[in-house]
Amino acid sequence: MEKCPICKNPGITLLKKAFIGPASFTTCQHCGKKVGVPYLKSILAFSVLLLSMFIAIFFINNPITKYAILAIGVIITFTIYLKWVPLISKEKPT
Ligand SMILES: [Zn+2]
Repeated sequence: MEKCPICKNPGITLLKKAFIGPASFTTCQHCGKKVGVPYLKSILAFSVLLLSMFIAIFFINNPITKYAILAIGVIITFTIYLKWVPLISKEKPT
């Protein structure tokens, strides 16, 4: 579980965090507030996935190597997302 940036309780599952896009948000299980990820960092993490897809599709002919590169790209992207991209409040400032 990830800590909520608003109430500091572990209210967001890792899976939920992995599926937050830069334009969307999830809600904390404890306080119910909107929590998201910073735009730039999530785009950077996602670009690793796009890069691995690009390499696999245009430069690799062997299907096994192709899927291996895609799988590595997914793993790296998720690792960056979960370790490096922080959770931030998406509540409108009052
Ligand atoms: Zn919370």
